[in-house]
Amino acid sequence: MININISKKVKNNIKQHALNEYPNECCGFIIGYIENNTMQCVDIKKSNNIANNPKNAFEIHPKDIINAIKKYRNTKLSVLGHYHSHPNSLLNSKPSKKDIDSIYDSNLCWVIIGINDKEIEYSAYMPKLLKNNTYDLEIIKII
Ligand SMILES: [Zn+2]
Repeated sequence: MININISKKVKNNIKQHALNEYPNECCGFIIGYIENNTMQCVDIKKSNNIANNPKNAFEIHPKDIINAIKKYRNTKLSVLGHYHSHPNSLLNSKPSKKDIDSIYDSNLCWVIIGINDKEIEYSAYMPKLLKNNTYDLEIIKII
């Protein structure tokens, strides 16, 4: 099973983005490389949340996804996945049903941060294809 290493700097950048967008969900991409079965996150690329109800959901414009992938083409880095926040959510950093329904690429990790006025919690997941051809998100270790 793959692990994910999120540096302090990246965690802080995600946290800052989440606080700036609060009480809306923030979203963006996790940038890095894979080494020794570990996703090494070295940076983030922020994205706009275009969901109709940004307090309870996130949606990234397909153009942003294409641009992010293009930006790192021919470099050592690539888009490893994306992150989004759950502001004041009872789900904290667990994926919502809508999150699971919106999985579109089984190779991209999901980093979710639960955030309220006191606490912040980071979790990471990889999509897992189920027998009935739907996905679930399987928690992976943050190291
Ligand atoms: Zn979510």
